[in-house]
Parts: sequence; structure tokens; C-alpha cells
Amino acid sequence: MTITSATDLPPAANLHADVVIIGSGPAGLTIAMELSRAGADVLVLESGGLAATKEGRDLDTGAVVGQPFLFGDIPYGTEDMRIRALGGASGHWAGMCRPLDDIDFHIRPWVTGSGWPLDRAELEPWYRKAEITLRLGTTGWEPEPWYERCQTKALFGSERLETTIYQFSAPVQFGTDFADTLESETGPRVIVGATVVDATLTASGDRISEVAVRRLDGATATATANHAFVLATGGLEVPRLLLAWGQGSAGIGNSSGLVGRGYLDHPHRAAGQVRASLGSNLPPLYGFADAPGDAPPTKVWAGWSPTAEVQEAEGIGHGVAFLRFRDSADSAKAHPTATTEAMGSLVAWGTSADANYATVSVRCEQVPTAASRVTLGTKVDPTGLPRLRVNWQPSAFDERTAHRTVELLAEEFGRAGIGRIEVEPRGKPFANIAVEIGCHPMGSARMSEDPKAGVVGPDLRSHDLTNLYVCSSAVFPTSGAANPTLTIVALAHRLAAELARGRA
Ligand SMILES: Cc1cc2nc3c(=O)[nH]c(=O)nc-3n(C[C@H](O)[C@H](O)[C@H](O)COP(=O)(O)OP(=O)(O)OC[C@H]3O[C@@H](n4cnc5c(N)ncnc54)[C@H](O)[C@@H]3O)c2cc1C
Repeated sequence: MTITSATDLPPAANLHADVVIIGSGPAGLTIAMELSRAGADVLVLESGGLAATKEGRDLDTGAVVGQPFLFGDIPYGTEDMRIRALGGASGHWAGMCRPLDDIDFHIRPWVTGSGWPLDRAELEPWYRKAEITLRLGTTGWEPEPWYERCQTKALFGSERLETTIYQFSAPVQFGTDFADTLESETGPRVIVGATVVDATLTASGDRISEVAVRRLDGATATATANHAFVLATGGLEVPRLLLAWGQGSAGIGNSSGLVGRGYLDHPHRAAGQVRASLGSNLPPLYGFADAPGDAPPTKVWAGWSPTAEVQEAEGIGHGVAFLRFRDSADSAKAHPTATTEAMGSLVAWGTSADANYATVSVRCEQVPTAASRVTLGTKVDPTGLPRLRVNWQPSAFDERTAHRTVELLAEEFGRAGIGRIEVEPRGKPFANIAVEIGCHPMGSARMSEDPKAGVVGPDLRSHDLTNLYVCSSAVFPTSGAANPTLTIVALAHRLAAELARGRA
């Protein structure tokens, strides 16, 4: 309907809607736009303003106490890996997309904590909708149509590695790309500058009766919902709010004690040098290339992942290795400091197909462990919410996943006579090398069938609170190797349809 600011609200306003959505990132705005289209009265409460501000960064600032966060070679804080503004972190995401694979949803006896309470087939129709929302193309996720579109072929035949396609969204920035929908008569109501700081439960304790909203100047308001509250504040703020809200010391929706536990990102690292001059023989598909033709996406990148059978036989998680071409040997070192520019420099890495300068990078699934965890600190931010404390702990299992993924690629390169990959660093533990984050905070409010084993059910409804839903990568029980946003948006479409049905 309109985007307004909390500063325009009358003192102690009581807001009301069918569905109140907290957070306006890709998750929150997808649900809001879909529900509004279905005729629901939707209110979105967004803590940030129309653009990022230093006050917003301050609200996102917390402590990183485990493995340091590095993005490229820049140390990141919790305030660098999201944006507190309309559209959330889509304001500076890179747009790299791929659905999770079948195996990522399975119970894998060799992977602790594995097994989603839904499978890929269940998400398939919602992935198709998410592809439209993120303006990805119809060339799909199988390599063959991409070989045809790029007039190329597989780099090597392999029974052990499969070529995995990553498409790039433009990238869609939800705060600006959907401004027309958000401003239209039939769009959702969006209030910016409205930080949700608390939730009150009904006397029975199984529903949220209202949430408390606070402006940065201290003024307050409340919001109630006929039907549901949806927490869509991203993979770090979901656990923060669930732990901070309510009167109890364990927060709300946390009868399992699992809120904040099993915190995941995708560990990334430089993994080797290609010791061969592949020159112009290397198909651009493998070097983060412009996608030929007019149809979206504009960029595509093929990597290599061990097949499901190899993951099982080797007892590893899901990894993916990519080649990175550079314009010159030095260009990869030229990292600007601002986050958005850092993403720009990543894009610049892919402009040349001169494989004399190819390096190998690897990213892997991180298995959930009790040690990797989000908790609350003792200090509070200006809205009174305790600050975050993030103890990120990728494990030896993850190191092995990353290392074997690159070794297998090196073996296949050698076997096919393409060249030699010098794998580095040689089996050093993550604790001793520069491990990068993907800015993909996941796992801290796991989805599970059994209420004792997670925070939300397969329908994303809290196991404890019948009118609270969580839509975020926080609900991912495990992460696979693919970037999370396509799956977040697929889950958002699925939840919007569910909520629209429930309202009818
Ligand atoms: C540099 C960078 C690069 C990335 N690249 C990729 C990529 O290539 N591919 C990919 O898949 N993903 C990428 N990501 C991750 C991607 O941005 C996230 O997966 C996505 O934005 C998550 O969407 P979300 O809606 O769940 O959360 P967010 O985008 O984090 O949105 C949450 C919203 O909630 C608001 N909020 C927080 N607390 C409150 C509160 N108390 N009250 C009200 N509102 C609140 C925030 O201000 C924010 O607007 C990248 C991220 C970064 C930072």
C-alpha cells in the first residue's frame, strides 16, 4: 500500500493486520507481496530505513568470538554481513544462486544433524516461483542446456565429480526493484524505522498476543495480528530475537534449547593454483562468464561437486570447487574496503579467460555442531536489545570436505590431461588458515519434525507458538554447498501460499 516511517506514527500507536511480518529482506518482502496479492491485510515492520545508515549498522554490531569472519581478506564484523534497511542484505548480495541438491535434504548417517523434514520434490514448485522472483532464467540447473547455450562441452568426463551450475540474479535488490509493488494500492503496508524489540505471550503461553516496536528516539508502539506473525529478520537476528524476547531467560519458542545452536556458514577458501596454460581452450562457462544470449541470467559459473555416491563413500559433506580467472596475477589482491565494492572486485575477477592466472577456490557445507553457536552478549544496543555474540566454529569434518573436493578436482584434471592443480594449503586445519565466510548465516533455528530436535516444523511454524512462523536460512538444518537465498525465497513462497490458505 505505502511505505511510511515509524516517525509518522502517533504516540503509543496500536498497529494491526492479518499477518505481521518482521523484517523486509528477500524472505519478508516475498511473503508480504504474495500475501497482499492474495488479498490479505499485511503489515511489514522493518527496523532499518530506506537505505543503510550508521545507526542501523550499530544495531547489527555484535561480537565475533570464534573463527574470525573474513570476506576475501577483509575482517568482517556481524554488521558487515547484512544490511539493516528496506530489502535487507539483498542491498549488497552478489546474486549467486542454485537450489539445494536432493542429497542435501537426506538423512546422511555420516553427517551429524543431517535430514530436512521435507525433500527437494516438495520445494520444486516453489523453486520455480523463486527463480521468477529473483529473475533467473529458464536454462535451468542441469549442465547440458548450458553447454548448448555457451556452445561448449564438459571440461572432462567423470563418475566422481558433477558439473554444478550457478546462475546469477541481476542481482535483484528487494527494496528498490519491487518499489512499484510496495507503493501500489494493493501492496503491503511497510513501516521502516520500526524495530521489533519484544513479544508478549497470551496467558496460555502458546501464542504471541502482541509485539513491541521501538523507534531509535525511544518512542514505542505495539502490533497485533489476526492470523500470524512471521519472523523474517535473517539468519543472525532470528536467533537473537527469539533468545531476547519474552520474560524467560531462554527466550521464546525455545523449549528445545536449540535456538542459536548449530550456527552455520559456508566456509570458503583459496585452494590451489592451476599449473597449466589452458589459454583460450578453457570454455568461459568455467570462469564466471557472461551468459550468452538475451535471456537472463546475465552471468553463470560452473563448478564441480563430488557426486552423492562419492560423498557417501568418502564420508564427507557437500563441497564445490570453482576456477577463478584473474586479469593479472595481482588483481585478486586489490580489495577495496566497503562491502559493496568488495563484491564489485569479486565480479572483476571473472573478466578474463586467461587460465595462466586461474586459481581454485572451494566452499563447503559446514556440519552443525554444539560449539558453533549464536548467543546474547551482556551489552545492549540503543533499542535495548542485547547484542549478538557469534562463535563460528567450522570443524575438522568440514576441512576434510573442502580438501577432498579440491583433491578430486586435481585428480580429474590430471587424469583428463588438462593440467596440474597444486592443492593448497596442504591439509592445514581451518584454525590455521584464512577461512572466509559466505555471509550466509544459517542453522540457528533448525527445522525439524520432532519438537525436541528443532525450533520450527516443516511448515516453518514454531513448535511452541501456534501463531509464530520463521522464514529465514536460520531454519536450514544443514546448508548444502549452494548459496542460500534461492532456497529462502522458495520457502517464502511456500509459506505465503500456506498462510493465504489458512486465512481463507
Ligand atoms: C556481501 C554479501 C554477499 C552475498 N551474496 C550472496 C549470494 O551471492 N547468493 C546468495 O544466495 N546469498 C548471498 N548473500 C546472502 C543474502 O543476502 C541473504 O541470504 C538474504 O539477504 C537473506 O534474506 P532474509 O530476508 O532472510 O534476511 P535479510 O536480507 O538479512 O533481511 C532481514 C531484514 O530484517 C530486518 N530486521 C532485523 N532485525 C529486525 C527487528 N528487530 N525488527 C524489524 N526488522 C528487523 C533487517 O533490517 C533486514 O531488512 C550475501 C550476503 C552478503 C552480505
